[in-house]
Amino acid sequence: MASSTTSNMAFTRLTAAYASGRTRPLSWRRAQLDALRRLVMDNREDFVAAVAADLGKPAGETVLMELNLVADEARFVRNRLSVWAARHPKPMPWALQPAAGWTIAEPKGVVLVISPWNYPVLLALAPVADALTAGNAVCLKPSELAPNTARLLSELVPQYLDREAVCVVEGGPKETGDLLKAPFDHIFYTGGERVGKIVMKAAAEHLTPVTLELGGKSPCFVDGTADLNVAARRIAWGKFTNAGQTCVAPDYVLATPDVAERLAKRMAVAVTEFFGEHPQTSVDYGRIVNDRHMERLIGLLPAGTVPSAEPSSPLIKAASAVGAAVEMVGRRIGAGAAGDDTTAAVSAGRVVCGGTVDRKARYIAPTVLYGTSPDAPVMQEEIFGPILPILVVKDADEAIAFINGRPKPLAAYVFSRDRGTRLAFERRTSSGALGFDLPLGHLLSSRLPFGGVGASGMGTYHGKAGFDTFSHLKTVVAKPSFPDTLGLVYPPFDEAKRQL
Ligand code: NAD
Repeated sequence: MASSTTSNMAFTRLTAAYASGRTRPLSWRRAQLDALRRLVMDNREDFVAAVAADLGKPAGETVLMELNLVADEARFVRNRLSVWAARHPKPMPWALQPAAGWTIAEPKGVVLVISPWNYPVLLALAPVADALTAGNAVCLKPSELAPNTARLLSELVPQYLDREAVCVVEGGPKETGDLLKAPFDHIFYTGGERVGKIVMKAAAEHLTPVTLELGGKSPCFVDGTADLNVAARRIAWGKFTNAGQTCVAPDYVLATPDVAERLAKRMAVAVTEFFGEHPQTSVDYGRIVNDRHMERLIGLLPAGTVPSAEPSSPLIKAASAVGAAVEMVGRRIGAGAAGDDTTAAVSAGRVVCGGTVDRKARYIAPTVLYGTSPDAPVMQEEIFGPILPILVVKDADEAIAFINGRPKPLAAYVFSRDRGTRLAFERRTSSGALGFDLPLGHLLSSRLPFGGVGASGMGTYHGKAGFDTFSHLKTVVAKPSFPDTLGLVYPPFDEAKRQL
C-alpha cells in the first residue's frame, strides 16, 4: 500500500517526466500503446487467474470483455492518433485577413486514473490507453477490492511502459485521498456516485477537470412487438455477465402486460441455456466480489427467500421459487405501490428463476423477479448483482414517464420493433447511451463515445472521445506583420470604420 510520501513521489516523478517533453512525440505514444497491448497479451493467463481470484470471473469473460477490449482500444487509437494530433486549419474572419487559424490538441499533462473492481483490467487500462494517446503522463490507482489484479498491474506496468511517465499506486480510500491532494491536470474516475462526489470536491480545490464514469439503474423496456426469445437471451446475457456487476447491465425491465409474463419465463429458459440447470457448477458464471456486496444483494431478494439465521448454509433454495413461477401475478406499476398485497415479499416480486445463494462461495443464482413494485428495496438503488426485477407497465408512455421520474441512467435499452416507440425513447428520455435490442453493445466499440449524463456521470472516453477528454484543444492564430492590415480594427474608430 502506498503512503502519502509514495503519492507525492509518484506525482513529482510524473510531473518531471511530463515537463521533460518525453511524452509528447507521437513515436513515444505509439510505442507505449504497442507495449500496452503486449502487456495484456503476453500475460493473458496471469490476468485471467488474478481476476478469477478477485471476482470469481470466468476465464472467457475476462478474455472477451477485458483483455481483448483493452488490446482493441490500444490498436484503434494507435492507428489514428497522428490524424487526431495534427493541426486542423480553421477559417478566419475577413476583417483579420490575411491570417491563419488552426486547432492543435495538446496533452493535458499529468493525469490520474482511479479505477473500480468490477472490470479491474479493462477499466484501469482502457483510460490509460486514451491518456497515453493524448501524450500525458499517467498515474493509475486500481481498486483495492480487486487486490490480485491491482498487484499484477503494479508489477507489469513498469516492465512494459515508460517507468518515468506511467506509474501504478496501489491502495484504498486513504491512498486515493492522498493522491487527490496533488494538482493533477485531469482526473478520470470510474466507480460509484458517493466517491465521485469526493473526487469532484478534491478536484475543485485545484480547478482540475474531471471525468466521472458512474453508475445507476439502467432500464430496459420490452413491448409486444419485440422478438421475445431474442430479447430474453440478450437481456439475460447483458444482466448476468459478470454476475450482474456491470455498470451498463440492464438493472430492471419494464414490460407491457401482453408480454411481461412470457418474457419472465423465457428469461428463465435463457438462463438455463447459458448456465445449465445448476449455474453454480457452470464455469461461465461469476461470483459476487465480497461479503459486503453479498449481504447487500441478499437483502434485495424477496423477504423469506434466504433464511438470515444461517449465514454459512451452503445452498439455500428459494422457498417460493418453483411454485411462484407458476402463479405469477401481473401487477402493473400504475396499479398502486404494492397492489393488494402490502408485504415486502410481494412488493419485491416473485422469484421466476434463481433466488438461491451460497454465502461461502459468494454465489447468487441468476435471479429473475416478476411483478416487482417500484417501492421494493430492489428498485431503490443500483442492483449491481444478478437480480433482475420485471415490472409491468401499461405502455411505452408509462415506461418513459417512469424513467424520466428517476436520475438519468448510464444506459437505457428498448426491445421494440415499433419505429414510433423507438423514436419516443430516443427523443424523450436521457441516458448515457441507448440500445435498441442490444444491451452492452456500445461498450464494445472504440468508435462510440462512452459515458454518463446527470447522475450517471460526466465526460466520455473510448477512441476519439478518449483522446479529446485527455487533450486540451488549443486554438492558434497567426497573422503576418507586414503589411499591417489590422489598421481596420485599431482606434480611433472614425466614421468609415463604423460603417464597416
Ligand atoms: P470501488 O469501490 O472499487 O471504488 C472505485 C475507486 O474509488 C477505487 O479505486 C477505490 O479505491 C476508490 N475509493 C473508494 N472509496 C474512496 C474514498 N472514500 N475516497 C477516495 N477514493 C475512494 O468501486 P465501486 O464504487 O464499488 O464501483 C461500483 C460502481 O461503479 C457502480 O455504481 C457502477 O455502476 C460504477 N461503475 C461505472 C462504470 C462506468 O464506466 N460508468 C464502470 C464500472 C463501474
